[in-house]
Amino acid sequence: MESDLPLVFDGHNDTLLNLHLPDRGEGRSFFERSDLGHIDLPRAREGGFGGGFFACYVPNSEVDGWNEEEALTVTDDGYEVSDAPRLDPNYARYFADELVAGLFRLQSEGGLRVVRTAEDLERCLREGIVAAILHFEGAENLGPDPGALEELYEAGLRSLGLVWSRPNAYAHGVPFRFPSSPDTGPGLTGAGKELVRECNRLGVLIDLSHINERGFWDVADLSEAPLVATHSNAHVLCPASRNLTDGQLDAIRDSGGMVGVNFAVGFLREDGGESVDTPLETVVRHVDYLVGRVGIEGVGFGSDFDGAKVPKDLGDVSGLPRLLDALRSVGYDEPALEKLAHRNWVRVLRTTWGG
Ligand SMILES: [Zn+2]
Repeated sequence: MESDLPLVFDGHNDTLLNLHLPDRGEGRSFFERSDLGHIDLPRAREGGFGGGFFACYVPNSEVDGWNEEEALTVTDDGYEVSDAPRLDPNYARYFADELVAGLFRLQSEGGLRVVRTAEDLERCLREGIVAAILHFEGAENLGPDPGALEELYEAGLRSLGLVWSRPNAYAHGVPFRFPSSPDTGPGLTGAGKELVRECNRLGVLIDLSHINERGFWDVADLSEAPLVATHSNAHVLCPASRNLTDGQLDAIRDSGGMVGVNFAVGFLREDGGESVDTPLETVVRHVDYLVGRVGIEGVGFGSDFDGAKVPKDLGDVSGLPRLLDALRSVGYDEPALEKLAHRNWVRVLRTTWGG
């Protein structure tokens, strides 16, 4: 790692699922260097990865046979993925608990530390310990009773996406489509509105990546916390349903919130395509645009490592210094790079979590 580069704290990875499912992680270990997946401890150290949001995401395929590849239809100018069915909340909770156990196993084996406060996070960054935020990607993971949020908070949960790209009892996720507006369906349910209030009360970050536009605006109306999309890009540059319109970006700016730039090529490229021959410059273009719209205080990274195809020039987490170098070469100075790399996340988390 080049020591003059700031550590990167990152808004989203799917490493827990990748390690958990043999057909995804192929049995690799977090503690040994591998060519599989994107994040393990040796590559994290090499890339100056200070940690990030470790998502607990429950896939459909094991329970109902729906999977993204089979659901995909190529259209004249892009693609459409047919709607993923909602998950049984009992199953979602059972599976999420396995991922949570996996995260705490990594902690007890000395691979990382699960952080609960902004102070914990800053201490990890100072001491070079990988910091992990326990994040649920989809509130069905709470199980059938939304009251479980408090018990999970006690266990360490600090971030909750109301939905993944499917509906649940709280909200509706955007189906994957290109080109498409994110305005794809109804807003929050009554239970969803209650859950937003509970997240505010406890100090749990509400992640707006994957929610449809009406749900986004409902959260914007209700929530007292800064608006955050942990892993989404600019819709103007890549008109995928998963990306954020200028109006959404303005609301994020006005709330003092932030956006984590997603490295998934499908959410970066203007053609929405899946080619990993996507220059780092494409990532830089999204950073530039988001900084122009939201401000240098409102942009960070949300890699989607271990959950998506990323540009081959980045490769995996060990390639982060190449991205920071690319940003530096187009004029981001040291204070700006530090903000993008981790300071903005620390600030927004401190405001959201309190203390
Ligand atoms: Zn995601």
